Amino acid sequence: MSGPGLATQPRKGSQVRSITAYAVDGPYPPGYAPQFSTIRFDMVRSVVVRVDTEDGVTGWGECVGARSNLTMATLINSTLAKLVVGRDASDVVGIWAHLYRSYLHSSGADAAGVIAMSGIDMALWDIRAKLAGWPLYKLLGGASKALPSYAGGLCMSHKPPPELADEARGLAAQGYRAIKLRGGDRPEHDLARFIAVREALGEAFTLMADINTGYSLADLHWAAPRMEPLNLLWLEEPFPPYEREAYRQAARFVRQPLAIGENHFLRYDFQDLLSEGIFSYAQPDVSKCGGVTEIMRIAAMASARKIPLCPHSATTGLNHATSIHVLCAVDNPGWFESDAAPVNPLHHELCSEPYALDAQGCVTPLEAPGIGVTINEDYLAAHSRTPGL
Ligand SMILES: [Mg+2]
Repeated sequence: MSGPGLATQPRKGSQVRSITAYAVDGPYPPGYAPQFSTIRFDMVRSVVVRVDTEDGVTGWGECVGARSNLTMATLINSTLAKLVVGRDASDVVGIWAHLYRSYLHSSGADAAGVIAMSGIDMALWDIRAKLAGWPLYKLLGGASKALPSYAGGLCMSHKPPPELADEARGLAAQGYRAIKLRGGDRPEHDLARFIAVREALGEAFTLMADINTGYSLADLHWAAPRMEPLNLLWLEEPFPPYEREAYRQAARFVRQPLAIGENHFLRYDFQDLLSEGIFSYAQPDVSKCGGVTEIMRIAAMASARKIPLCPHSATTGLNHATSIHVLCAVDNPGWFESDAAPVNPLHHELCSEPYALDAQGCVTPLEAPGIGVTINEDYLAAHSRTPGL
């Protein structure tokens, strides 16, 4: 029973009126097709989620769809939206728990369901902060601060070492003080590329390396000791997320810090990883792990072990800006992953600018109420492949 003065009903007008998810494809311009290992990309894909309240407030969120973006959008439009429409839009924790109990508990949809609800949750936080008239970081309890950022996203693709060294020099010239290298090729090719960039940028430059789940245990046994002299800040995601035993073994023999999390979901996955002492940097993606609500919980769990939060961020400006808000509101902020891809239509054409890199290689949060990113609705409509949208 509620105590006196506590509202039991949503404020009139703040109920969710509608939820619409757009599977959006952002084609690259002719001639641009970055390659990672055997995969060559001709477009970047995601899901943009729009939530409207009865009194006319609109929130925007993103869930990562990749090749399954139409599936994610359909899951939201056909199933999850019905569970949220009519509820108090500002009750984000209540809606999160309702989706968890009503869908994830027993559907078996697991990761797809978590990813889909991440986009709804982000849009609800956008609404909540707009209703408060505050930027999201402030609503989450944080303050504006300069956050160190590294060049990530879909940059540093698999090129010959001299070309890669040139790309790295170019990123450093843009102001980046740290760059994440792209691995996941044959280990000897990765090593040659990493050495070329280290030699191009010097010993003092901060480098991380992302293996993008591309190694076997044998690969890592070969590569890890050979990469040690490169002084990488972290070695990221050597294996697919399902290969937990490989991670357990890697944590015992790899002397570089491991980073993991962009393909792990909910606080329960992270609870297991943390208890096993597998990683040194936590990389949940706010558009995959369960949204803003859940990434704050994961950050708190990592904080208890003095592990920095370094959220994975790749696709749209909604995710980028939200990740910065979150980093400003946790007590264990690590690095922000800047989208250093020279071309990303879902960053530069779909969204207003989500951040700017300053002269020290840092970023700060947007100050407009909500997430602070404006969506180009003409671009969204023109590039949506959700039927009827
Ligand atoms: Mg990664």
